This record gives sequence, structure tokens and C-alpha cells, in this order.
Amino acid sequence: MNPAEWLERTARLVPDAPALLAGERLTADYRTFAARAAHLAGALAARGVRPGDRVAVFMTNRVEYLEILYGIWWAGGAAVPINAKLHPREAAWIVENAEARLVLLSDDVGAELRPLLAAGVAAVSVDGPYFAALFEAAPFGAPMALDPDAMLWLFYTSGTTGRPKGVMITARSIELMTLAYFADVDAVAAGDAILYAAPMSHGAGLYNFMHVIRGARHVVPESGGFDPDEILDLAARLRDVSMFAAPTMVKRLVERAAASGRNGDGLKTLVYGGGPMYLADIVEAVAVMGPRFVQIYGQGECPMCITALPREIVADRTHPRWRERLASVGRAQTCVRLRIADAEGRELAQGEIGEILVRGLPVMPGYWRDPAASAETLKGGWLWTGDMGAIDADGFLTLHDRSKDVVISGGSNIYPREVEEALLLHDCVREVAVVGRRHAEWGEEVVAFVVVDPARPVGAAELDAHCLDHIARFKRPKAWRFVDELPKNNYGKVLKTALRDRLEKEDT
Ligand code: AMP
Repeated sequence: MNPAEWLERTARLVPDAPALLAGERLTADYRTFAARAAHLAGALAARGVRPGDRVAVFMTNRVEYLEILYGIWWAGGAAVPINAKLHPREAAWIVENAEARLVLLSDDVGAELRPLLAAGVAAVSVDGPYFAALFEAAPFGAPMALDPDAMLWLFYTSGTTGRPKGVMITARSIELMTLAYFADVDAVAAGDAILYAAPMSHGAGLYNFMHVIRGARHVVPESGGFDPDEILDLAARLRDVSMFAAPTMVKRLVERAAASGRNGDGLKTLVYGGGPMYLADIVEAVAVMGPRFVQIYGQGECPMCITALPREIVADRTHPRWRERLASVGRAQTCVRLRIADAEGRELAQGEIGEILVRGLPVMPGYWRDPAASAETLKGGWLWTGDMGAIDADGFLTLHDRSKDVVISGGSNIYPREVEEALLLHDCVREVAVVGRRHAEWGEEVVAFVVVDPARPVGAAELDAHCLDHIARFKRPKAWRFVDELPKNNYGKVLKTALRDRLEKEDT
């Protein structure tokens, strides 16, 4: 299916239903939403966008985000939503790798990207008059019919090699993920609202489909981001509000609700995932807000749909093993099979810890133009997630470790290698190792161990400024340890476990 067909059907059935809201301000009903997407598709096609062509989107959350995505799909194009928090250089690399010839950007983040774009790549500001004029173009006609294998969304994850990889999310993946939401996560009604408080370029944006199908409201907070008070107020006024939130967002929302004597009134469902949720935090969340929480575990490679821990189980305090269940990420979603395997792919016995493998229709066909990485991740018909876990007798999966040392801070993945490579560009840095350390608010924070050239000592402030020049702000180390040497094994590999142990000892 082309999601634009879902939009068109909904617009025919309930043209006057409220569709897009900036805060509480209605900007489009479904008739207008679909018409604008069709006009935009016409304008894109007139500019030469053909089925399968990539159109990059580098902008902060706003209602136009959805009009743009649907405009691209209506014309049969593939959207390349880029996290607005990325450094302009990282965004430019993604545009180039995706071979996108058109970038739609918002001025707040896009101004610095423009000069970095290659010749032949057009940039259109959604804040400028030219963007408004695109909606004057002749509409496209019926949405382009798509094969299940058509790529709709090129989703860039950070790569352990320091370069992001583009996950090809197909029409099939999106269809399955959407149906699995209805089957395993939550029902959606016409009167519901989905609120985008996390970047629409990622998981939050992927939750639009279910709500377009049902003709529900799409709400982008005025602040464009995550402000707990704003969300609690909006939910109380708009009612029946659902949202996707990283565990750290849940924690902040719950703290704010508790401190101000609120209970999350108006919030229907908070789907959390994207990083580990600590048991104490979810117990507290349910105590303050009640049964409003559902957990999912997914990754770009199998978007949002590996496992789910449903509302009843998140809220249950009577089952003899409720604690274990609550500390798990739930059971396999309807459309996938799970296997825990050793390094050779042999299935391990129940309860044993190994790598989590996933099989099913929503799994990506591979990484964009990266056959080596695809072959390493898709083996024997299974997706090798890189996450370690164990499955209990009832099918609950518990994550134990992340095999690739990824640091998850505030729900964003930070790959140490990328930070290390940026730091090693500094003349005075000889060696560096980056690890994660547990952090009460952010889940984890980045700590850098640095060996500097004794002849040219350098301090944390200078290295921090250096990072600002090379990587996204949120990836910068939050703490620095200057050491004479890094602990290494016989093969010369840095022992990151020893570094983590050292940090843990400092904390106790
Ligand atoms: P991304 O591809 O950016 O969505 O990141 C996916 C990774 O986030 C997974 O491979 C896991 O390591 C982690 N993750 C996702 N959901 C959860 C969850 N519910 N609990 C713990 N970690 C999670």
C-alpha cells in the first residue's frame, strides 16, 4: 500500500474531521491535508521527482512535516527524514549517500546545511514563499500505486563504523508495522489524537499511519519538542492523546505530573521504547498516571515491531512474576518470530542469553547501497539485531546488554566509534575510548577516556568545542577522563569493560 491511499480514503470518508493541529490550533481538516499532499506531489513530480526518487527532509517537528511526507509518497517517492539534531555535516553526508536531489528544510536547522550541499541538489525552505507556492501546483491525481518492495522511508541509523547506514523501510514493512500496532499495541479511534513530542524523523513519525487510517488528529506541540508541562496541559484539553516517548521522556513527564498533582488526565496511551526503561521508573509511572503505558522494542531494521508489553501487563502487580515481566520488553509482536542464538546462529535454550534474531515480513530487505553491512546483519533469513537477550517460558524477552557498546542517552543512540573518530581528528589527541555510564535522567551519558600528547596538553573545554564542530551536540561526551594509557588486551584492543568498571567504582 501507498500510505497516501490511506490518507485519500480517510479524506473521502471524513473530509471535515480535524487532521492537523499546531498545539490546539487546527491547521487542516482531512480534506485540506489530502489536497495539500496531492498538490505538493504534483509540484514534486513537475520538478522531476519520479517513483523511488529520494527526497530528504531536514526540519524540526511541525505540522508541515506530515504534509511533506504524504506529498512525497503520493508521487511515489521515498522520504529521507533526517534527525534535526544532527550536525549539518552529518545531514549533508546523508543527503549525498541517499542521492537525494531535493531537500526540504526548515530555516532553524537548514540554513547551515545549504552551503554544504553538492551542486545539483536543490534545497527548498519550508519557511520561504517558494514552499507556499508549491501548493498552487496542479495536483498529482490518484496516489502512485506501489509494489510492496517500494522503499518509502530511508531511515538512517548511526553505524558502528562511524558512518550511518540507511535502513530501507518498504511499503510492506510499514503495512505490517501498522497492522501490528492495532494487533499488539493499542486500538485507535477516530476521536484520538497522536502527539509528536519526539523527532518525527524517527519512531514518533512512524506512528502517524495508524492515526491517518482512523481519521484521528495529529498534534505537534507549539514548542516543537518535549516540554512536560505543555504536554500535560495539551492532553488535558485535547483528550484521548497518545504519544511515543523514550523512557527518559516518560520519567520527566511523570516527575512533572507528580510534582504538580496531576495524573496524566487526557493521555490515552504512552508507548515507550527506544532504550532501556528501569523497573523503578515504570513502577512509579504507573503509580502516578495509571494504566496508560505500553512498551515496544524495535529498531529501524524492523521498525517498532519486534516485541510489545501490553498495557495490562505493564499495570499488573498481582502476577507472581510481574517484576520480571515488567523488566522485560514483552513478547514477540504478531508478525515476527524471535530466536536467541549463539555467535554461529544456533538456537539457545530457554533462559539462556544470546543475540536476538528476528524473522518476519516487516524486517528490512537490507541497507541502502551497503551489501557488506546487509550481509552481516541479514543472515540465514534472520535479522541479527546486535542486542543480547533471553526469552522465558512464557515468551517474554529480556534485554541483557547491547552487543555493540551503543550508548543510549535520552532515547538517542550514540555510537562510541563515531565520537572517538571525531576526537581523534584533534591534533593533540593520541588515543580515545568512549563508553556509556548510567545516568538517572538520561538513561546513560557519554564519557570519554583520552590520552593526550604530553607535549601539547589540551583540556576538556577545547575538546568539547572540537566536538561541536564535528558531531551533533547530543553525542558530545558529558564527562572527560584524561589518562596516561588505555587498558588493552593482548591483541591491542581497548578493554571497554575495564573502563566501565572504573566509572562504576567512582560512583560508589
Ligand atoms: P533505533 O534503530 O535507533 O530505533 O535503535 C534501536 C535500538 O534501541 C535497539 O536495537 C535496542 O538496542 C534499543 N531499544 C529499542 N527499544 C528498546 C526497549 N524497549 N528497551 C531497551 N532497548 C531498546
